[in-house]
Amino acid sequence: MARDAGSVLIIGAGLAGFSAATQLRALGHEAPIMIVDSEAGSYDRPPLSKKLFTEDFSLDRLAFATAEELAEKRIVPRFGAAAMTLDPATGEVGLDDGTMLRADTILLATGGRARRLPIPGADLPGVHVLRTWDDAVGLRSAVQPGSRVAVVGAGLIGAELASSLRDAGAEVTLVDPVPVPLVPAIGELLAARLHEMHAPRGIRVVTGMTRAFVEANGALAVEVDGAEGAPIAPIPADVIVVGVGIIPNTGLAEAAGLEVDNGIIVDERYRTSAARVYAAGDVARTRSADGELERREEHWDAAQVSGKRVAAAILGEELPERGASWFWSDRHGIHLEATGRLSGTGEIVVRHGGEHPAVFLIEDGLLRGAAAIDDTQLVRAARRIIDQRIPVAAAELADSNVQLRSLLKAKR
Ligand SMILES: Cc1cc2nc3c(=O)[nH]c(=O)nc-3n(C[C@H](O)[C@H](O)[C@H](O)COP(=O)(O)OP(=O)(O)OC[C@H]3O[C@@H](n4cnc5c(N)ncnc54)[C@H](O)[C@@H]3O)c2cc1C
Repeated sequence: MARDAGSVLIIGAGLAGFSAATQLRALGHEAPIMIVDSEAGSYDRPPLSKKLFTEDFSLDRLAFATAEELAEKRIVPRFGAAAMTLDPATGEVGLDDGTMLRADTILLATGGRARRLPIPGADLPGVHVLRTWDDAVGLRSAVQPGSRVAVVGAGLIGAELASSLRDAGAEVTLVDPVPVPLVPAIGELLAARLHEMHAPRGIRVVTGMTRAFVEANGALAVEVDGAEGAPIAPIPADVIVVGVGIIPNTGLAEAAGLEVDNGIIVDERYRTSAARVYAAGDVARTRSADGELERREEHWDAAQVSGKRVAAAILGEELPERGASWFWSDRHGIHLEATGRLSGTGEIVVRHGGEHPAVFLIEDGLLRGAAAIDDTQLVRAARRIIDQRIPVAAAELADSNVQLRSLLKAKR
């Protein structure tokens, strides 16, 4: 029998907040649900870096649900309004337009904002970030075919953006302090393979630490300290985009007295340090039962799953499985997927045979992580092998004649 959570107010209509709202209804929650967001709608972010220069790029297309669909589920949206105050004792939430809301249960799904570099010129006009629909629209309108665009940060978003910008006809320079980004996330081999795809597409790749953005006579430039002190001439740019990660939006929680440490601290049932207040998605950081603070996950799947799980937690129900972490990235016409971990202790195993290698990490006879290019089936099977703790041998993983799915069936 579900717990009566009463009315639920969700702050943040990103993937985590939206998933929680719909899952509450799917689990039979009948009381009012309101979802507040300072942005103009509730929409999907991954297309912002992949599709922003395509013809049919619109907020309606990215929206998780139409107004009618929300109404059908009796989820009341309040877009364009930021929550400024939260009183956990009373459940009152004050919005920036002066409205006072109140609910029995509060879910903080406030996500993150794009990190800016703490360097001179970081706020110059022409320096962009990419996290929101407005960011994407601003960037799209600033770039024309032939524009010189410097992308600072060659991680997931920077690399995708470089690819999209190239498709749009921009002259792109991609700057990162490390020679091969993403090694901790996908292992050295695939990280190198992906990074090597930029240059043949006409993207200039620069390794170095960005020191400043400068403006002279209406033109921008990126000043970079090269690797090992090698001098690099300032990189001229019409547009600069910074893709160096996110900062979790913890301000509201912190001001309300909740425990915060690079994320809103939650237990394994998404409860914050205040009764009636839960947190989920990119902003939440779990303290596991043994007291250890986990890394915040900043991926789509984690946000969606945590939305579903927090809904179950709010209703006092058993949580659905979380599964090994999983993410994807698209650039230069290829599709990368990775699951679990590909760094830390254990042995890296490489499978050759296809157009691209696949990599695995095993430890103590168990698969811990896998990544592959254009091989969704392999990564999907690997994730299930990780989740079910099915023993595997390095030789099986390395052998491209062994279907991962068959390991799943044979050893279950
Ligand atoms: C450009 C881009 C590309 C991406 N591509 C991929 C990908 O390919 N694969 C992948 O796995 N992941 C990808 N991600 C990551 C994924 O989109 C995020 O992990 C996911 O969106 C997190 O969802 P969330 O609901 O936790 O947070 P968010 O999406 O950040 O949503 C939080 C919401 O809370 C609102 N909010 C914050 N504070 C307040 C307040 N005080 N009052 C009201 N509203 C507030 C914000 O406006 C925001 O809408 C990408 C992200 C970006 C930005």
